[in-house]
Amino acid sequence: MPADTINITLLGATGSIGSSTLDVVARHPALYQIYALTANTNTTKMLALCERWQPRFVVMKDNDCAIQLAESLQAKNLSTQVLSGEAGLLQVVEDEAVDCVVAAIVGAAGLVPTLAAAREGKRVLLANKEALVMSGKLFIDTVRENNAILMPVDSEHNAIFQCMPNCLTEQHSSVKMANGTGAGIERILLTASGGPFRTWSVEQLHDVTPEQAVNHPNWDMGRKISVDSATLMNKGLELIEAYWLFDMAISNIDVVIHPQSVIHSMVTYNDGSVLAQMGNPDMRTPIAHALAWPERIASGVEPLNIFDVAKLDFEKPDLQRFPCLRLCYEAIETGGSASIVLNAANEVAVAAFLDGKIGFNDIAALIEQTLERAEITQDIGSLESILQADAMARTISSETILAKY
Ligand code: NAD
Ligand code: MG
Repeated sequence: MPADTINITLLGATGSIGSSTLDVVARHPALYQIYALTANTNTTKMLALCERWQPRFVVMKDNDCAIQLAESLQAKNLSTQVLSGEAGLLQVVEDEAVDCVVAAIVGAAGLVPTLAAAREGKRVLLANKEALVMSGKLFIDTVRENNAILMPVDSEHNAIFQCMPNCLTEQHSSVKMANGTGAGIERILLTASGGPFRTWSVEQLHDVTPEQAVNHPNWDMGRKISVDSATLMNKGLELIEAYWLFDMAISNIDVVIHPQSVIHSMVTYNDGSVLAQMGNPDMRTPIAHALAWPERIASGVEPLNIFDVAKLDFEKPDLQRFPCLRLCYEAIETGGSASIVLNAANEVAVAAFLDGKIGFNDIAALIEQTLERAEITQDIGSLESILQADAMARTISSETILAKY
């Protein structure tokens, strides 16, 4: 292995972003080396990944899965070391040999290792938007104080990064870019596909099934983010993500429904210019960009055929039919722990919806009830206080489901 090969820890290796990341990395064996892979419980898939990638370490969330995987690896004479739990995640993130951490765990479970990657000054490829939504200022301050490089993988935020001026992005990661720089940036236009139910009425939305909700028209994603895309909660979380990443007032960020998902977001300037980043909807593009920036590498994504696209539509979002987006605007305005409570309640609600316990429209209702019942605090400066607010919101929303549904 050449000395300048970049060692990667991939958190959430068995998921959708995990697979896309491995697909890009496989195209550049001289540039990247997989040092560690982590997953929740899928030992079968992880065993196959170990055979293919032979990482130094693997982390499974629970100990039983780790033991089972270790036995299977031994039977195949593979030397990958198996760790488990949060301690295992921290070890493979903090390891001195690791240059780059891809944060692709879904939900709040990714916060602790993602924050640790920032604390260790790594190059952090952030897909796990929930981690930033929860920790906001703490995360950005941690990146700055430790000279970490924070690269957005979320396609919209990666697009915004690409539309920012070179003079701002040359030496810095996204967090140091947008504000007060005299670069003439006026607004961010955050695009959204609108999800599979963009044109549905409230009555139709009432009867949406989990199968319909996870079937996204343009993107192939994990189940949780697919439901979030259908409720527009994903766009709301991305609004909060953009607010923190680009240090931009919420009043200067517009959500634009763009059903073709060909423009991945735009940045407007004071001279009237509007820069857009375009491409086929395939996460390998932002992943390749975030891995290689400031250089470019091949991603395997089909070139965009602009003649096939032919037409680009833009609409305003409907906050009445999609109240999750409204709740995100309100959570940013309230500040403090409101975004943490919103995110936790959403995770509980989406899991309950996928389990058939609540309906599609109940997701937003449950989040709103949790925000009303939870005590919102401005004291969220530490990881402990963030985790506490998260746990409290989960208790409230779980109790509400038991009582009402
Ligand atoms: P996914 O469900 O396909 O994969 C999630 C991964 O996290 C899996 O490897 C799983 O094993 C792991 N995981 C789940 N729960 C865990 C836990 N409690 N502890 C440790 N590991 C756990 O999800 P995904 O679609 O790949 O999304 C991952 C993240 O990337 C999410 O935050 C999502 O919002 C974000 N994202 C995804 C896409 C996409 O196209 N899929 C696009 C933009 C952003
Ligand atoms: Mg996105």
